[in-house]
Amino acid sequence: MNFFKCFGIKCQVVCCWVLLTGLMVSSAVYANALKSFRVWPSPDETRVVMDLSSEAHFTYFTLSNPARLVVDLKDTTIRTKLPVFVRKSPVLKKIRRSSAPEKGTYRLVFELKKKISPELFTLAPTPKGEYGHRLVVDLPHGSTVHKQKASSANTSKNHLIPPKTIARDVSQFYGTKDIVVAIDAGHGGEDPGSIGPGGHYEKNVTISIAKKVKALIDAIPGMKAVLTRRGDYFVNLNRRSEIARKNKAHLLISIHADAFRTPQPRGASVFVLNTRRANTEIAKWVEDHERQSELLGGAGQVLAKNSNDKNVSQTLLDLQFSHSQKEGYTLATDIIHQLRRVVHMHRSKPVNASLAVLKSPDIPSVLVETGFISNPTEEKLLFQRTHQDKIAQALSKAIVEYFNDNPPEGTLFASRKKAKKHKVHSGEFLSLIAKKYGVSVKQLMVANHLKSTSLRVGQILVIPGNNAAVSLSAVKSQNPVETRTITHKVARGEYLGRIADKYKVSVAAIKRENHLSSNTLRVGQRLKITVTLKDKPVRKHKVHRGEYLGKIASYYRVSIDNLRRVNQLKSDSLRVGQILIIPNR
Ligand SMILES: [Zn+2]
Repeated sequence: MNFFKCFGIKCQVVCCWVLLTGLMVSSAVYANALKSFRVWPSPDETRVVMDLSSEAHFTYFTLSNPARLVVDLKDTTIRTKLPVFVRKSPVLKKIRRSSAPEKGTYRLVFELKKKISPELFTLAPTPKGEYGHRLVVDLPHGSTVHKQKASSANTSKNHLIPPKTIARDVSQFYGTKDIVVAIDAGHGGEDPGSIGPGGHYEKNVTISIAKKVKALIDAIPGMKAVLTRRGDYFVNLNRRSEIARKNKAHLLISIHADAFRTPQPRGASVFVLNTRRANTEIAKWVEDHERQSELLGGAGQVLAKNSNDKNVSQTLLDLQFSHSQKEGYTLATDIIHQLRRVVHMHRSKPVNASLAVLKSPDIPSVLVETGFISNPTEEKLLFQRTHQDKIAQALSKAIVEYFNDNPPEGTLFASRKKAKKHKVHSGEFLSLIAKKYGVSVKQLMVANHLKSTSLRVGQILVIPGNNAAVSLSAVKSQNPVETRTITHKVARGEYLGRIADKYKVSVAAIKRENHLSSNTLRVGQRLKITVTLKDKPVRKHKVHRGEYLGKIASYYRVSIDNLRRVNQLKSDSLRVGQILIIPNR
């Protein structure tokens, strides 16, 4: 299916600009010029950045058979060479021109290797002018890993795919990863933060609320919280975002209390990163090459290998920045929505800030001023347990709401979103619905946070996918058995028992799966066989204080011997923080 999107930005004819820059006569009739292409395949997507002389006014649509993306640049001339042949991209073959639909429009055709949903957006020039106007085309590679493997499994002659290629990324498969929320309690140690008229310190209210939010987040299946400080000590601002990054946080929320020189101002505010500050931060980061790859995560490694191209780095960084910023704003809005129900708001809209703790380009970050500690009434409130509870509940509700709407890929939240929904009809009960969808009652209860098995008519139930394993608690304590269904083509001389042997399954299982009523097979017949993968996903355990080998072994229901063997332990003593690989039995 084709789709058509239009960005109806009124075309701006910037005549004086053209005169000022002294362009050649031929291009002077067009407002815009396409100066260069930068194509950059990353592991997940291929990004094409077009440099233009002014803001792009464009439309685009996709075509299939063969798959193409067509981009029309309005009122644009081109000052670079075409076609561009692309190597090393799993989705993009080449970029070429095509005949213009109308005078003045430049039509680009992106020849694709498969059908995908591209994303196009413009980027404004950087403040220092390193970059001008850009049009970015993101071509996602899609979940190529298992799709390709799955099709090769069907076509390869009776050969199992080496299990390790699948097992490696099995957490993605199941989508059971936790969402990590970094909670930053402002100030601490020798830094008390603001001090209220009653002598209360900001650092003490921030840590109590932070701990309450952590407890609430930790109680939600599929989520976990980390604190950037756990007690009354000082952590510098860079270290705070570092802690969030090291823990692979999906979000950073910094908790503070406001202060003013007069006692009147009151209420809560939510701050988000400011763009202009962000842009200067980016420039600084780009200069620091070392830091860059750390900030860019996976993309950074490819960068480090492939080029020192500052253009590319800059683009990537500001893309990530604008992404986090946008996400931060969405989250801030959710937070305000919840907070205003329980506290007075000082500002009813997210406030743009340039605070150091908000400067992580890769993690959406917000800062919440929970109230004015300089206001005597709010100072008292802020130190009341019930008031702190209300704030903590509002914050965690907003966080959950935000991630329900924007679940990061590979997390339990994302699987839950992909899960089917069932509306309860009269006469239906839980075990019946469970049976219908081939899930357990327990899975249904966990997925829907049900405390009892009673249902009401019209209630919407989330049905966990069979392998989406929304009942994460079960996955955590037991070993999920990964299976894969392959197709076996019966060769001459093969019989059921032999095939069953080959795949280590039972004859009965093959018969059941293929609805066979007899044992007779014909040559060339295709059999579906669900096999168990030998390589289970690697589970890891971080040793906590007070844990010993036997305790960990019994928690995972594995033998101590296997634990020792897999981890090549020379003694049974463990250190706190040590990472153990958990074997499958
Ligand atoms: Zn503060």
